[in-house]
Amino acid sequence: MEKTLSIIKPDAVKKNVVGKILSRFEDAGLRIAGTKMLSLSAEQAGEFYAIHKERPFFKDLVAFMTSGPVVVSVLEGNDAVALNRKLMGATNPKEAAPGTIRADFAESIDANAVHGSDSAENAAIEIKFFFPELSKCGCSCSH
Ligand code: GDP
Repeated sequence: MEKTLSIIKPDAVKKNVVGKILSRFEDAGLRIAGTKMLSLSAEQAGEFYAIHKERPFFKDLVAFMTSGPVVVSVLEGNDAVALNRKLMGATNPKEAAPGTIRADFAESIDANAVHGSDSAENAAIEIKFFFPELSKCGCSCSH
C-alpha cells in the first residue's frame, strides 16, 4: 500500500467538479484516507511549492493557489503515486491524454485542476504538511 497527496485546485472547486474528481480516484481503486477543504495562505502556498521558487511562474502559481478554496486528500492504494499521476494527465492540459482529469476539467497550465505528489518521498512530505495526524513517523517514508 502506498499513499499520495492530491489537491483539487481552486479552478476545479469553482467549477463544482470536486465529487467527479474524487470519484475518479475511487473508481480507479484508490481509497480516500483523509480529505478536507481549506483556503491556502500565500505563505502556505509558497512553502508547499518552494521547489519552484526561482521559476518565472512562481508568483502566478501562488496567486492562483490562493484564489479560492482547495480540497486536499490523502489517497491510498497500490502504486498510488503513479496511479494518481496517470489519472491526472500531463501538467499542460493541452498535452494531457484523453479521459484524464486535466484533459476533461482543466483550462490551462496555470489552472490545471489537480496536484499530485510526484514521488513516494514527496508524498510523505506533502501528507505531513496537510495531515500531520496521518503521518505515523517523522522520516521520509510513505507511512
Ligand atoms: P505537476 O507536478 O504536473 O503539477 O507540475 P510541476 O510540479 O512541474 O509544476 C507545479 C505547478 O506549477 C503545475 O501544476 C502548474 O500549475 C504550474 N506550472 C508548471 N509549469 C508551468 C509553466 O511553465 N507555466 C505556468 N504558468 N505554470 C506552470
